[in-house]
Amino acid sequence: MTNTLNSSDYVLELEHLVKDFDGKRAVDDISFKLKRGDILGLLGPNGAGKTTTLRMLLNIIAPDSGIIKILGETFSEKTKNRIGFLPEERGLYRKMKVMDTLSFFGELKGMKSAEIRTRGLELLKKFDLERYKDRKVEELSKGMAQKLQFITTIIHSPELLILDEPFSGLDPVNIELVKDIILEMKRHGITIIFSTHLMDYAEKIVDTMVMINNGKVVLDGTLSQVKSEFGSNFLKIKYEGDATFITSYDYIKNIQDYGNEMEFELTNLEYKDTLLKDLINRLSIHAFQVTEPSLNSIFIRKVREGNPAQGEL
Ligand code: ATP
Repeated sequence: MTNTLNSSDYVLELEHLVKDFDGKRAVDDISFKLKRGDILGLLGPNGAGKTTTLRMLLNIIAPDSGIIKILGETFSEKTKNRIGFLPEERGLYRKMKVMDTLSFFGELKGMKSAEIRTRGLELLKKFDLERYKDRKVEELSKGMAQKLQFITTIIHSPELLILDEPFSGLDPVNIELVKDIILEMKRHGITIIFSTHLMDYAEKIVDTMVMINNGKVVLDGTLSQVKSEFGSNFLKIKYEGDATFITSYDYIKNIQDYGNEMEFELTNLEYKDTLLKDLINRLSIHAFQVTEPSLNSIFIRKVREGNPAQGEL
């Protein structure tokens, strides 16, 4: 990604952002751009600086230095109504009814009541919340409230969606739902940036990604660029049995063992046939596949590189 700030193709342009809290650098020289209509995943472990970066984009906190252009300009009241923001700290008024909540947020974004009602009901239906429209927020389950908050973020049909951990607190069915809505919004030309540490979901939907660790960008680019940077000697196996012996092979590295599934890298793909024969003798093998590295493996590797105390790979 290049960092020249002058193109209208970009909905977001960040250049050399820095933010310190009490002398500790939370965001350390972060630069990236987001093209109109793309989905960008801002990935990183806990405390990496994702929320701080998103909050700076939205002018909630000011950077100590750096340049931010959002929708082609510096953040203003006008830009605000063109953006939908889902904060990490969800905040709805517990005593307010669902429909009134949508009116409250819709009006904040300059919508008329009729428009709020039509779009609100349409979204409540989509999120399977229509029957709760006259109930108070406190009567909703955590996941339902999370879905309602998501609706408040998109009710005004923003051009740019900024979602801080949109999947947190949702069950797998609702994660799918939010993922589908994100993809549907992309099909309507909406640009989306979201933060997450759920790599499996990020992998399915991002066009580009920026991975940060300790406030610094450690990887960026399209998914295929990032993956090709990590090589093509990866294997995935599905197995039953005790596979701990695999750590003793010196041509295997970067092992991620999930108990009945394992991903690892071979120093040379030539070893794969010998390895397969060996594994079949010692384990019950259900799948053995040469694959590209998963975003999860890349993420774990990058994070561990930056924090050696978190363990050897
Ligand atoms: P998570 O995935 O856990 O939400 P994150 O990547 O969003 O993490 P941030 O919330 O941006 O990380 O935090 C980055 C660093 O900045 C952390 O060390 C955090 O403790 C610190 N930090 C964030 N906000 C503040 C604040 N208001 N005051 C002091 N330190 C802060």
